[in-house]
Amino acid sequence: MGTASDATPDTDDRGEEIDLDALRARYARERERRIRPDGAAQYRSAAGEFGYYAKDPYTPRTEREPLTDTVEVLVVGGGFGGLVTGARLRQAGVESIRMTDEAGDFGGTWYWNRYPGIHCDIESYSYMPLLEEVGYVPRWRYAPGEEIRRHAVAIADTFDLYRDAVFHTRVTALDWDDQACEWVVGTDRGDRMRARFVITSSGTLTQPKLPGIPGIETFGGHTFHTSRWDYGYTGGDQEGGLTGLADKRVAVVGTGATGVQVIPHLGRDAKHLYVFQRTPSSVDVRDNRPTDPEWAASLKPGWQRERMENFLAIVSGERVGTDMVQDGWTSTARLQRKMISGALDTSVSPEERERIDELVDARKMNQIRARVDEVVDDPATAELLKPWYRYMCKRPCFSDHYLQTFNRPNVTLVDTADHGGITRMTEDAIVVGDTEYPVDCVVFATGFDVGVSGVMSGALPVRGRGGRDLLGSWSRGPRTLHGFYSDGFPNLFQLGAVQNANSVNFTHILVEQAEHIAAVVARGRKDGVPVIEPSAEAVEEWGRTVRETAHDNSAFQAQCTPGYYNREGAGVHGGFSYSPGPVAFHRLLRDWREDRMHEVLGAKP
Ligand code: NDP
Repeated sequence: MGTASDATPDTDDRGEEIDLDALRARYARERERRIRPDGAAQYRSAAGEFGYYAKDPYTPRTEREPLTDTVEVLVVGGGFGGLVTGARLRQAGVESIRMTDEAGDFGGTWYWNRYPGIHCDIESYSYMPLLEEVGYVPRWRYAPGEEIRRHAVAIADTFDLYRDAVFHTRVTALDWDDQACEWVVGTDRGDRMRARFVITSSGTLTQPKLPGIPGIETFGGHTFHTSRWDYGYTGGDQEGGLTGLADKRVAVVGTGATGVQVIPHLGRDAKHLYVFQRTPSSVDVRDNRPTDPEWAASLKPGWQRERMENFLAIVSGERVGTDMVQDGWTSTARLQRKMISGALDTSVSPEERERIDELVDARKMNQIRARVDEVVDDPATAELLKPWYRYMCKRPCFSDHYLQTFNRPNVTLVDTADHGGITRMTEDAIVVGDTEYPVDCVVFATGFDVGVSGVMSGALPVRGRGGRDLLGSWSRGPRTLHGFYSDGFPNLFQLGAVQNANSVNFTHILVEQAEHIAAVVARGRKDGVPVIEPSAEAVEEWGRTVRETAHDNSAFQAQCTPGYYNREGAGVHGGFSYSPGPVAFHRLLRDWREDRMHEVLGAKP
């Protein structure tokens, strides 16, 4: 990637010299301050005793009889991955499709997350899939959550995916029946359905997590997680107007991408808001704006694919002539290479590349920190809101309202970094160090068990040929061809980033995955093969390719403040996804479909 900043001297936007040694030392101190010995174990899943945090507040559960029928394709997950797969299969002529989801409707992440202020921070024209197929142009450059959720419903309507769908249904077991060449699908509704093909797309941001704060269970006030917003308590809707909070002292825990979006609304409407921060986010300019109707009218068929490809190429480090999106993601593409796989700039030595990366990073972070000083009136508060780490250590955030909220007299920022987070909770207060903050309500903006699909966590046991356990056969790491399927598990396809591609625009990844799976299934049906399954050799070969091409970003991770990107400071190595990046991967898939697809269609039942 060639960017203008590559060639600049070692100075920041204000012309001040960048002292990389001093910056590294400062970042290391911040990391030390934040490292906790319990790492990822500090969190609790919203399950068991805390299961009520994960209950569906939006759709009443209706009783139904258990199902024992047979469908051709069963899709686990009604988010964008499942929806696009269902849509492409319909287009390929598959009539019998059953969509399933634990939620009460389609939408996945966008079903669950309805907190005030929710928006997608990827440009909607590239993020919302199948816009042309559904005949829709988003109303905003960065769409609000409700518009995105409705679009998910529109996809389901357009492709008739409500037919045979079951909601509030968790798939609890998948067992391959060798004789019938079908999957037997067990659920928490007592179903024993059958399906020839099963496709899992159960998402990465679905299971809410809570901080393991001592005494959390003793708090007697009102609490909920941002992904299960309690509008019955707060009043208002996703656009705000939380009138129920006018007489309440509210605490919000967490200042990640969710916290940054929700805090302006809580600040506006609560009697008093305490923001409990552990690590500040980097918060850049948002610059949202309504869609220009003239631009929308000028769009030619194929426009969305072109825009998606352009965005993906830029944020993956590919060289392209035009930046169609021109936003905070495309302008920081070089820095994203630290976290999300993609093409590496090989025109300079690795050492020089690293030096340039660090300087570009420092310039960006100096700009982000300078913005805090510009916006926040109180210098002490501004100091606490400055992020001291490299750009991709945490998910970058964008807002034109967040920092401004700390100028309100009813908003207090409570920094918990020196205590590793909140110290404890009592019946009516949050305690940090020795200071008690009495509150009526606590909103947990503390994120999700990221990246853990039911299959990977073991919550959805899968038994293939001869009862072989999928996680057991993955005990030394995932074994797949292209991330989709494994030998011993016929007619089972998984969507997700494992041994597949990854990108900040994850719906683009899902669109490619859905199209690939639909193409393979369509070809299998056309050829009349009973099973689709890769050989053990093909799986081994792909595992080797992923390992051998892996970019090791552990050195970068090791100097980052803890978070889910680096397993709370424990570190991660490259090779989770295909490191050469999504553009290369999609090309590879296209070639494979041309030349090698027959290899998964030859297996004996
Ligand atoms: P995150 O996991 O990113 O943030 C959790 C927050 O809770 C962090 O600020 C964390 O602090 C804080 N926290 C956790 N435990 C404690 C504790 N004991 N005391 C004090 N603070 C604590 O979750 P989010 O929901 O914000 O975001 C999750 C992901 O969802 C994002 O990374 C993004 O991928 C996606 N997202 C996308 C959006 C979009 O527009 N596309 C919008 C919102 C979310 P610390 O950082 O110190 O661990």
